Amino acid sequence: SCCAISIVSKNEIIGALVITSSKSNLFNREIYALFRVIQNQIEFILDKLEDDRFFQITLSALNSGFEFVIITDSNFNIVYVNDKATEISGYSRQELLGKHHSVFSSRTHSKEFVRNFYNTLRSGEVYSGIMQYKIKNGSIKDFYVNIIPFFEDKKITYYISVGKEIAKDDELLQELEKLLNYDAATGLINIYSFKKALEQFIERATYEKTIGAVAIINPIDFKKINEAFGFETGNSILQQIAKRLTDNLRAYDRVSKLESDRFGILLKDLKAEEDILIVVSKLLLELAKPYKAKDKSISISFNIGLSLFPKDATTPDGLLDKAHIALSDAKEKGENQIGFFRKELEKDATRVLQLKADLELALLNKEFIAYYQPYVDRNQKIVGAEALMRWKKDNTIVPPSEFIEYLEQTSLIVDAQKLIINQVLEDLKLLKKPIPISINLSSQSLKQRHLSDNLISNINYHNIPNNLIKLEIIERTLLNNFDYVARLIKELKESNILFSLDDFGTGFSSLSYLASLDVEILKIDISFVRDLDNPKTKSIVDSIIYLAHSLGIKTTAEGVETQYQFETLKSMNCDYFQGYLFYKPMDKQKLIQAIEHN
Ligand code: C2E
Ligand code: CA
Ligand code: CA
Repeated sequence: SCCAISIVSKNEIIGALVITSSKSNLFNREIYALFRVIQNQIEFILDKLEDDRFFQITLSALNSGFEFVIITDSNFNIVYVNDKATEISGYSRQELLGKHHSVFSSRTHSKEFVRNFYNTLRSGEVYSGIMQYKIKNGSIKDFYVNIIPFFEDKKITYYISVGKEIAKDDELLQELEKLLNYDAATGLINIYSFKKALEQFIERATYEKTIGAVAIINPIDFKKINEAFGFETGNSILQQIAKRLTDNLRAYDRVSKLESDRFGILLKDLKAEEDILIVVSKLLLELAKPYKAKDKSISISFNIGLSLFPKDATTPDGLLDKAHIALSDAKEKGENQIGFFRKELEKDATRVLQLKADLELALLNKEFIAYYQPYVDRNQKIVGAEALMRWKKDNTIVPPSEFIEYLEQTSLIVDAQKLIINQVLEDLKLLKKPIPISINLSSQSLKQRHLSDNLISNINYHNIPNNLIKLEIIERTLLNNFDYVARLIKELKESNILFSLDDFGTGFSSLSYLASLDVEILKIDISFVRDLDNPKTKSIVDSIIYLAHSLGIKTTAEGVETQYQFETLKSMNCDYFQGYLFYKPMDKQKLIQAIEHN
């Protein structure tokens, strides 16, 4: 006969116990009952074996983690420690098991803290926080801990604490800080710290009255790159973009990785609004170069949206919002386009950019020439002339008001000025009765190294007496360079080259500094001359002339257009007169004629 008994583990039949006998009447009730006992035992042992295996696995997991695990009973006596706990604490397992958890007490926590700690745990809640523990060698360390009450039959029977040491150099905090402030893929600052940077810039720029710009840079169809080449390649390209951005900006500009595939940059302290277009156009050229992706090279197009501080917005969010709007405009225009938040600015900036490029060409073609405006004494005799720059563009003559500002911004002024000086020296040789000619110098020309040496040797080279060249500087250039300019004036005076102070009255007009400045002539600004029928203005001009004379300085009135102005100025003893009433600026042929007929 034969008997089969199933073996069940976790509600599944996993096998059978089969017993056979040569006796036909062996399997009676008693024997069955005995077999049942054996069946139970087998099932129990199998389950136990399985549990033990899991216990071993769990244990090794506990011991291979970075965290310590300490289990205490409900009275906080230690019943288990993992390897990490012994490693961190310096105690052996034997030293810890059975001890009260206060072996770790650092006695650095306040009473309130301790009370709160125990109340939390006894009420069955999880305690999470930073704890200080004393380890075996007596030192105290900080840990992030989670202490979890373990329940059996609705009663707390154990406490499991799991924790991690906060390294002294705060690696964890640093990592946390990195996570909070940086973009993981590129290492650039993220939007959160970008906004902080914007805030700081705005605060300073408001105070210093400087301008700045926010650009949002968006690679077009970047998703497709991720899809085609995989995430890793996508990340590598983002890193390459990040590098190009940082490499091509000034160190104090900020580059950031914003949400998804967008980059943000903050350009600080721009000289002029249209400068942003120069910077960003260059950036766009850099970005458009191919990228390395494994063994391939990929071309990517970009769009850039721009907003300007303070004109477009004065808050971080405002600047970002507006740059985003500008970005969608750029996208509408097509690939590799730049969009401004303000459309007029876009037109202006493009125009100015074009102008600057034209000016560069104009300089190469020597299109800057000198016009001359004679000035006269009280008998209307020509006593000298002022050289005034003109741009001879095709057949038109462009006045300085339309370009000189941009020559100065691009520093082209220095070379343009040299053209004028050389031309003046050439033209002086054409005059039968030579008259002194004054040349306007901007602050950049003034700051040229060896200015006076170069000028003097140039004058000598042309074989012209030094006293025929005069220089004009505007009051404003003194502002930051007073000592330097004062020295230069003295130096050149020794070589008979004299200075006029131009646009007098429009700058910081302190008559007191005139005493320490060795200038020959003070040029009364056109705005005073225009306003001479105003008694107040008249008395100001009167005292300027009086004071200048008392310092041994002569005066020239600029922009004299009417007989009334001429008479009034004469009655005040003004020395020289310049204006449309006598002569307009003219080319050199006309100057020659004017001098001959004078
Ligand atoms: P500025 O040195 O004050 O020159 C006098 C300006 O007044 C000239 O303008 C002249 O044409 C104008 N003007 C003369 N008489 C009259 C008048 O009766 N009525 C009116 N309404 N205007 C009169 P322009 O030639 O347009 O030059 C403008 C400015 O450009 C100059 O002002 C000077 O600051 C600058 N500039 C001209 N040439 C040079 C140069 O070679 N180098 C530098 N750095 N600046 C220059
Ligand atoms: Ca002048
Ligand atoms: Ca002037």
